[in-house]
Amino acid sequence: MSLEIHQLPAFDDNYLYILRDTQSGETAAVDPGDASVILKFLKNHRWPLHKIFITHHHFDHTGGIAALKQKTKAQVFAPKYDEHRISQVDHWLEEGLEVTVGSYKAQVLFLPGHTLGHIAYYFASEKALFSGDVLFAMGCGRLFEGSPAQMYQSLEKIKTLPPETKIYCAHEYTLANGRFALSVDPNNSDLLQRMDIVENLRQKNQPTLPTDLQLELKTNPFLRCHSPDIRKTVGLTTSPEPQVFAEIRKRKDQNYTDPI
Ligand SMILES: [Zn+2]
Repeated sequence: MSLEIHQLPAFDDNYLYILRDTQSGETAAVDPGDASVILKFLKNHRWPLHKIFITHHHFDHTGGIAALKQKTKAQVFAPKYDEHRISQVDHWLEEGLEVTVGSYKAQVLFLPGHTLGHIAYYFASEKALFSGDVLFAMGCGRLFEGSPAQMYQSLEKIKTLPPETKIYCAHEYTLANGRFALSVDPNNSDLLQRMDIVENLRQKNQPTLPTDLQLELKTNPFLRCHSPDIRKTVGLTTSPEPQVFAEIRKRKDQNYTDPI
């Protein structure tokens, strides 16, 4: 008995996820931006779809809801903050509520910053976090709606999870993120080592995700605003951490823009 997690590539660089409790057969999709990718996978496995979990309102995370609901009758769960901008939702979620896949429970974490309503799903028993566009490998989501201080707080919340937590991000931005990370943290040996591995994987067109919190704590500049080396590079040796975060995010936006 286990919670199976399947990672499905979609669009140019998205990952959609299918979760399945092998005992009960209950199956859920996370952020199904493209219904056809999900439907093809389900058909190949002859699995139904019972639930859809949404992290935020962006179209590459929600675009498949209508078609999937029509074809599978799955129940849709989404952040309450986005009530006015996500349709066909059955259950609105807030911090502290839970969702289930069979006997597996996930806590809803409210993590604003990329958008103001962004939530993530944390399966404590599996130490698995579905982080949408909040945290990426060696990066974080762009601040489309929230402030740097909000995103900083959201990342701090993720930092309180167990270090071995696996992080299932929604985009394969790892290589570009790593190149930026090196620009602010050039002497970080963990980062240099990780980039070798990431470059190798991407040359073979293999995913670099999921990542885990421990690795991010060592190599992700957005989780390392305390680092004396990073502070020195960005010229903010004595500033509070949220200010260092804001400066790193600004530099990333100026030089290494993610599409979404
Ligand atoms: Zn997004």
